[in-house]
Amino acid sequence: MYPGLSKACMNVILKAGSEKQKEMFTPKMFSGEWGGTMCLTESGAGSDVGALKTTATPMGDGRYKIKGVKIFISSGESDLYTNNVHLVLAKTPGAPDNAKGLSLFIVPRFRLEDGKTNNVVCSKVEHKMGIHASATCELQFGNAGESYGEMIGKEFDGMATMFIMMNEARLLCGMQGESQANLAYLLTLQYATERVQFANEIIKHPDVRRMLLKMRSISRGMRALNFYTMNLFDEAHKGGAAVQDEIALLTPICKAFCSEEGFNVAVEAMQVHGGYGFCTEYGIEQFARDIKIATIYEGTNGIQSVDFVMRKILKDQGKAFSLLGEKMRKDLTSPEAQIFSVEISTIGKNMEQAQKILGHFAGLAAKKQFDQILQSTNYFLQFSGNLVVSWLLLRGAILANKSKIGANKDDAQYYQTKIDDFKIFCQHHLTRNSGHSLSILNFDNVYSGMEL
Ligand SMILES: Cc1cc2nc3c(=O)[nH]c(=O)nc-3n(C[C@H](O)[C@H](O)[C@H](O)COP(=O)(O)OP(=O)(O)OC[C@H]3O[C@@H](n4cnc5c(N)ncnc54)[C@H](O)[C@@H]3O)c2cc1C
Repeated sequence: MYPGLSKACMNVILKAGSEKQKEMFTPKMFSGEWGGTMCLTESGAGSDVGALKTTATPMGDGRYKIKGVKIFISSGESDLYTNNVHLVLAKTPGAPDNAKGLSLFIVPRFRLEDGKTNNVVCSKVEHKMGIHASATCELQFGNAGESYGEMIGKEFDGMATMFIMMNEARLLCGMQGESQANLAYLLTLQYATERVQFANEIIKHPDVRRMLLKMRSISRGMRALNFYTMNLFDEAHKGGAAVQDEIALLTPICKAFCSEEGFNVAVEAMQVHGGYGFCTEYGIEQFARDIKIATIYEGTNGIQSVDFVMRKILKDQGKAFSLLGEKMRKDLTSPEAQIFSVEISTIGKNMEQAQKILGHFAGLAAKKQFDQILQSTNYFLQFSGNLVVSWLLLRGAILANKSKIGANKDDAQYYQTKIDDFKIFCQHHLTRNSGHSLSILNFDNVYSGMEL
């Protein structure tokens, strides 16, 4: 997390900062001497960042006095760095009291001109369920003396500028879910080959095999999703709005789907370990404690799903989603895919269901019944995650099927696991979409009208 945040912070300065800011801040961040943070959250402003109260008062010399309290700041203070570069969202005098009134400021822990304290005080370290190696701090700006900052980007462009960092951090959440799931799977596989019950290693019991295969298929599926999305960044260098739109569409899926499923894999890993999974001895419970936060920070998964459906699909009139569908259809109808007839037919039916759900959402939007869309966005994000991952695993299975020919025994076995992953994913994960789809389409319950 420490280098990830620093890198994302540097990218903001490189993309939105002035030449002077780039020169002043980035060399020591590149070398690892200084670390970066992102400071959005306050006690009354979590998902609703626009409600924040931190102020930035101009001093007339290009600098601003920053005053306010940020909470839950990852890498907020540590001995790893000789200086911290905080990117702080704050409101200038008279700014609109919402997200459109936010501006972004660079506020160092120690002032660059004389190395003296800039009065950024860590007043609390959060006690967390997991990620204990990451210091999560409450930071006070301008309370123990003046904290000076300088604006980065234009006034009121704070959210857009901060999104450079947030989008990167969201993809990192996806990587967190995926990488921890893959490691949890490998450790669990090893445990299952060693633990004996009923005179057999538990890996031989069919129910344990089911859990392991499910874990492997989703973990590798998430990896395929993250790699596919990262590769789009390379394609984006060649230009083209369509690639940018595809990245924007897939970012909330990477973040929310991989963090949610990463947590599910961690829970399944504990189940395979039996009672030892619930105890700390084997360290497997740590995965569940560590992954869970990825469903909450960088915009909760609820917020991701709202962004996915309302902005990335409905506001875009489904254009990016349709283009992705075209790519999928091309692979599904390819001659090499036809040996997986059961699976490609299941994917095809899911694509039809996706169209029905989107038609349903569009109908509700036309009638301004937004609450009924918003109560289902989470399910549709999970639905879409399952769909996209099944397609990417199909591509892997097609490739593996070709590569198997003439391969040596070890390689052939590995390629076979890729084919199995695809089939298992369709059987155990993609089929859950029928439930999501029924829940969205077949009930007319309006949650906002129900008593709680
Ligand atoms: C370990 C850790 C590290 C963190 N690191 C940082 C950091 O480095 N920088 C930083 O600025 N922040 C950081 N955060 C804060 C984190 O981003 C917030 O906790 C998160 O955005 C949610 O805000 P909240 O906790 O106030 O929850 P709330 O916003 O109160 O949300 C509570 C629940 O309500 C739901 N909800 C709220 N509004 C809506 C809506 N409009 N539609 C649907 N559902 C909604 C949420 O999905 C959630 O389920 C960190 C938090 C933790 C725990």
